[in-house]
Order: sequence, then C-alpha cells, then structure tokens
Amino acid sequence: MKLPRKVSIVEVGPRDGLQNEPIFMSTDLKIDLVNCLIRSGLKRIEATSFVHPRWIPQLKDAEEVIKGVGTGLHTRISALIPNLRGYERARECGVREINLVISASQSHNMKNVNRTIEESLKYFGSIAEAAQRDGVMVRGSVAVSFGCPYEGKVPPDRVYHIASELKNMGCFEIVLADTVGVANPAQVYRLFGEAGRKVSGVGLAAHFHDTRGLGLANVLAAMQAGVTVFDSSIGGMGGCPYAPGAPGNIATEKLVMMLSEMKIETGIDTCKMTACLDMLRSIVGTGKTGGEIFCG
Ligand code: MG
Repeated sequence: MKLPRKVSIVEVGPRDGLQNEPIFMSTDLKIDLVNCLIRSGLKRIEATSFVHPRWIPQLKDAEEVIKGVGTGLHTRISALIPNLRGYERARECGVREINLVISASQSHNMKNVNRTIEESLKYFGSIAEAAQRDGVMVRGSVAVSFGCPYEGKVPPDRVYHIASELKNMGCFEIVLADTVGVANPAQVYRLFGEAGRKVSGVGLAAHFHDTRGLGLANVLAAMQAGVTVFDSSIGGMGGCPYAPGAPGNIATEKLVMMLSEMKIETGIDTCKMTACLDMLRSIVGTGKTGGEIFCG
C-alpha cells in the first residue's frame, strides 16, 4: 500500500462546522476552541468566514474571532472569503491565508454566490491579485467536485479546468471537495490521480464529508493517489444541508486516530485533541459529536 510518511490536517470545524450547525457559539467559546485546537498541534485552522452576517449569522463575529486568536502564530489561521468586501475585512484584521471557493457545477455555484463559474473565476482573479499584492496566501477550493445535489454527476474535466484556473491565479493549494459526501474511494483515487497529472505544480488537498460513512475510506484512497493534506472538523461538526441529520465533515479526532495507528505523522497530540473534543461536547452537547479518540 502506498502511504505517505506525514500528513497535514487543516481543521475547518470553526468555519465549515459551525456554519452548518443551528447553534450560535459565543465569540469567547469560539476563541477558546481555536486556542485548544492550536495547543493540540494543528498547524492550519480555517477559523471563520467573512461572509455577510445576513447569510451566515453563526459567523457574524469573524473579526472578533480572528483578533481574539491572533494571526502572528506558528499555526496559520485562514478564513473563507466570498467577495471583495470579505477580503477587505479579512485583510484589515491581518489574515495571512484566504480560501476562495468555486463550485464545479453551475447550479451549485449560482445558488451559492449567484454567479456562473466563469464569472466567479474572473471575480476571484481580482481578489487573488489583491491578495498577492498584500502578501496573503490564497487557497482555492472546488466545491461539489465529486457530485452535486442539483446536477448529480460532475464532469471531471470541469474540475480540472477550474483547478487549473485557480492555480493560474496564484493559489498555492487546490482543494477538491466532496461538499455533500457522495464520493466513493474508486472515484477519489481516479479524480486525484488525474488532477495530479493535469494540474501539476500545485499542492492538492482533499475535503471529505462523512454523509454516507465513506469519509475515511476516501482519505485512504486519496493517500494512495498521493494526497497528503486533508480538511477535517473537530467532532465531525457541520451537517449536510442537503441531508438533514447526516454526519458532517470527517471528524478530526477520527482522522488523527486512523493516521496515528497507521504510523503516519500528523504532529497532533491525541491527548490534547481529546481536551478539544471534551470542550466541544460541553458546548454543543454529547449528542452532536460522535467521535472517540484514544489518548496516548
Ligand atoms: Mg465541508
């Protein structure tokens, strides 16, 4: 089996998790949670989204969270940016990395941001240009790369096209995201293998959801295809808006447990990660977080 020696985990719970949970976690608790995650050894955390509060009120405190956590840390704190105004807000509080998301299906992109894919690419091109001028790193994500709730199958060539365009605008890393959790391991292996050949010279990362329980199987398939960067969410936070009650993002603690038992380095202290899980449970209740972790 082809396995990497080391894997990087990007914790997305504070953003992707919380934006899909019905609760509003107070700003102080969000900051405590991010700090706890930093202590566990995570080197990359997507902490919030600079989206208009009207759309996602759970993340209306983006500025306070970023300022409360700080940006001059060894852990890189990033934020999702939907538009130019969001970029300006992020820059003003010193965010060093932004995440730009485009959907691989027209319907999903229209529903999400009311722009066609080509319009989004052009629009994000100008944000990426500004970011480069400001010395801000840009990560590009291709949502619904493995299937769309409106259109079903997504042509892989469209995924490669968007990924190439994101690379050309200066993204240091491209995320292929299974936003709704419809991917299977064979498909993951094929799409990442082909993306590595067609969009060379840029890092590839995977973002999986556990909607149908295939999240970690997809991680294993992606590692076989050479992927070494994975998004995940503490406690598996973040349900799927298209599948009410279904699990959300792959759970960070389960991902860490699997990798650690496979002797793949993550740099994460499992005991300290358990503390984050306990903290999360004390905030949102035990019913929400199914993840278990073995300390040590
Ligand atoms: Mg997600």
